[in-house]
Amino acid sequence: MQASVTEWLDKTWEKYPHKTAIIDKGNKFSYEEYRRRSLAIARALIEKKIGVQKPVAVYLEKGAVMLFSFIGAAYSKNFYSPIDVEMPAGRVNKILEILKPEIVITTKELKTQFEKFEYEGGYLLYEDIEPLEDDEKIVWETAGKIIDTDLLYVLFTSGSTGVPKGVAISHRSVVDYIEWVTEEFEVTKEDSFGSQAPFYFDNSILDIYSTVKTGAVLNIIPKDLFSQPVLLLEYMKEWGVNSIFWVPSALITVAKLRALKNVDLSDTLKRVLFCGEVMPNKQLNYWRKYLPDVLYANLYGPTEITDACTFYVVDREFGDEESLPIGKPMKNTEILVLDERDCLVTSHEQGKIGELCVKGTCLAVGYYKNPEKTKEAFVQNPLNHCFDERIYRTGDLVSYNECQELIYIGRKDYQIKHLGHRIELGEIETAASSFDEIPRCCCVYDDKRQSIVMYIEAEAEFSRNEINERLERLIPKYMLPNKVKSIPVMPLNANGKIDRKALKDLL
Ligand code: AMP
Repeated sequence: MQASVTEWLDKTWEKYPHKTAIIDKGNKFSYEEYRRRSLAIARALIEKKIGVQKPVAVYLEKGAVMLFSFIGAAYSKNFYSPIDVEMPAGRVNKILEILKPEIVITTKELKTQFEKFEYEGGYLLYEDIEPLEDDEKIVWETAGKIIDTDLLYVLFTSGSTGVPKGVAISHRSVVDYIEWVTEEFEVTKEDSFGSQAPFYFDNSILDIYSTVKTGAVLNIIPKDLFSQPVLLLEYMKEWGVNSIFWVPSALITVAKLRALKNVDLSDTLKRVLFCGEVMPNKQLNYWRKYLPDVLYANLYGPTEITDACTFYVVDREFGDEESLPIGKPMKNTEILVLDERDCLVTSHEQGKIGELCVKGTCLAVGYYKNPEKTKEAFVQNPLNHCFDERIYRTGDLVSYNECQELIYIGRKDYQIKHLGHRIELGEIETAASSFDEIPRCCCVYDDKRQSIVMYIEAEAEFSRNEINERLERLIPKYMLPNKVKSIPVMPLNANGKIDRKALKDLL
């Protein structure tokens, strides 16, 4: 049985040493190079005598070296935690206070920046690490002792209190997830994934490990291209990117600027997977119109369950105003929908809303050094009174449709009480997103004035009356926005999703 993700790299390297593994800024790295560099980092970490299962912070620009560092940390039986080089100092300091890394892998240039943070541990500078002949022999003694419950990484997400939470994930969860992904989507060495997700965001797990497992290419798409859709699509065509796993916001930008009209990807693109936020059917329909033969799949899940736990392969037509299902649980994963009294909502109870809870190997070990928050979110299954069984409460509200597929309704926290009615802000957004002239919108609740404010990404102002007249045909009157505001560019958070907090700050 496989204990560690590093075994994938060992096997793929053995089979295809000279095959391209990573494309980064036009530079190609073979699987031989990938492994050699990762082993060199592992050896350097071992030589530093930091011990095992210790946190290794990775402070680098998104690129191949980051991947060598992740796998290097894993080979040394430690776990990695990427820190965004653009993150403000206040937040980095909060993360460092929790993580207390033994060492940070960075470059000479970035070290100067890192030295401004509150950090007293050691440094490993990438420029100083040269692969040596004995690396494999030295590393093997440690790597051979990895067990599947060892931590592989800790990713920090924002906590509601403003204190970041470090989601700790084991090798086992990633092995389980990637086995499923590669089987379900039939990923092979012929594939080339165009990576959008930053490596500190869990969507990147699919890109990184499904390629390492199968020998496919991971093409790191330059970040700037995501604001220039035509150039982005031309890049994909030029490099033969045939698979993508992006946040819906990135797909929406391409649809909004009608970029598929200019670049024909029909001979290039094979799979379009997305996850992380709602994918409106209006924009998906645009993609489907230009690329009808592509496989589209909506994956759903939070960082705490290793990227994704449900999926829906798009297999039928949807109207612009309809919700795209998040589908059914992945293999070796169980979903419980629990109502307010923790009773099970069954898949035959169409339309009944409950909280999506998850059971399975995909569950994180918990929040790093945060037993209280861990206890709040990872709880005993309330339906099992016989033995210990952990479930993760996602805080997401869902219901079942007539096909017994899960439909995402919204976050519990975006559920508001307005004029005595319980409202999911997401429902208003889904309705408004179906209008042609609304490329992207987001609703926030102004608690002080007790009003629903809808932000629309547009230069021109919209008349609230006009919008509401049309919305009224889709949602109840009490859900109609009290204010409609235009915003030229929707604020996005570091992961590329709509930043609701930034919108609330505008109120
Ligand atoms: P993160 O931990 O940053 O990946 O965020 C996870 C949250 O994003 C989930 O709890 C959902 O609220 C939302 N989310 C993820 N995937 C989807 C999806 N396919 N549709 C709607 N919301 C999603």
